[in-house]
Amino acid sequence: MTAAKPHPSDERTPLEERLLQLIEDHGPIQVGDFMADALGHPQHGYYTTSLPFGKEGDFTTAPEISQIFGELIGAWLIQSWKDIGSPSMVNLIELGPGRAVLMEDILRTAAKVAPKFLKAVHVYMVETSGRLRYEQTKRMQGAKVPVTWATEMHDIPLAPTLIVANEFFDCLPIRQFVRTSSRDDKCWRERLIGSSGIGASQRLCFELSHQTYVDPEGAPNGAVPEDVFETCKAAQDIMTEITTRFEHNKGRALIIDYGHGRSSFGDTVQAVRQHQFWPPLELPGKADVTAHVDFAALSRTGRNAGALVHGPILQGQFLATLGLEQRALALGKAAKDDAQRKVILTGARRLAHPDEMGTLFKVLCVQSQGIDAPVGF
Ligand code: SAH
Repeated sequence: MTAAKPHPSDERTPLEERLLQLIEDHGPIQVGDFMADALGHPQHGYYTTSLPFGKEGDFTTAPEISQIFGELIGAWLIQSWKDIGSPSMVNLIELGPGRAVLMEDILRTAAKVAPKFLKAVHVYMVETSGRLRYEQTKRMQGAKVPVTWATEMHDIPLAPTLIVANEFFDCLPIRQFVRTSSRDDKCWRERLIGSSGIGASQRLCFELSHQTYVDPEGAPNGAVPEDVFETCKAAQDIMTEITTRFEHNKGRALIIDYGHGRSSFGDTVQAVRQHQFWPPLELPGKADVTAHVDFAALSRTGRNAGALVHGPILQGQFLATLGLEQRALALGKAAKDDAQRKVILTGARRLAHPDEMGTLFKVLCVQSQGIDAPVGF
């Protein structure tokens, strides 16, 4: 993807007007508050108002790139169902299913190779956006399994559980802390969003909190002034919800996202619009705003809660072990012409090559105690 465009026109979105008013009335907001509204505001949020995915959208996710992604994940889930003892009822939960392309590919794979698994499955889609729920409902119309929507995982009944989350955790609101040069105990300040300018030229801008903080939980040692450390309470809460389920029932979760395997410093908030990086505070509600996932923090929460954690490993490595190349070659052979063959092979390369999604994207598995290690790790 290319770098950020220059400063766009002096247009202000309705959401920006609203945020500026909010800041004027109540003071600066946290980065995560901005993310939550930019993505999920009921009238103006990006996921509420637009269809983000695919060529016509602003970005493309792995299941939208190639059907092989969903097929391999499907095979992994079927094996996981066997690993937890082939229960006659299993919740298959997807967090943030987008246009439900991944779930469609998973269910198609199951219908072909594992009808017994399909018979056991109850699909739960955890989705906050009404717009995307509508898309998901359309795509799930032909599904031969029960499909239920939930706003939070908490609302889903307990049962043996398989969970999949692709590019979901990166949407969750974060907080950012900046190391200041002071040497006292409290040498961090929070990076907040305030406003600058007046009247029509008023704009959102980053600023630092007056309040100072001690080391944020999970921050590695050795911070130097200007270092940024990010925390994501929502991600920790969801991980806790997952592990609580695994205390009651056997289960396994697969989390795939871009991010880092070790907690580290850096501002990772990014916006994407029309397949290009975009200045995160510009035109809120019209761009996707996300942050890298701290897989070390997720693993720690999972382990501390008593779950078994495997990975994170690189997406390229994971998909290669599951048979990406063989599947791409088989599909390529069956392709109707060279153009279609090229699309298949290019798609597979995008998913796994180190210069594409292969190393930036990581895969983490969390599972209940007492079951074998998952395939692919
Ligand atoms: N998994 C899909 C879509 C990723 S985009 C894919 O790979 O194509 C993120 C998805 O998470 C969207 O469906 C968005 O509406 C949803 N989402 C974002 N925040 C959420 C939250 N807090 N709870 C539930 N869903 C959320």
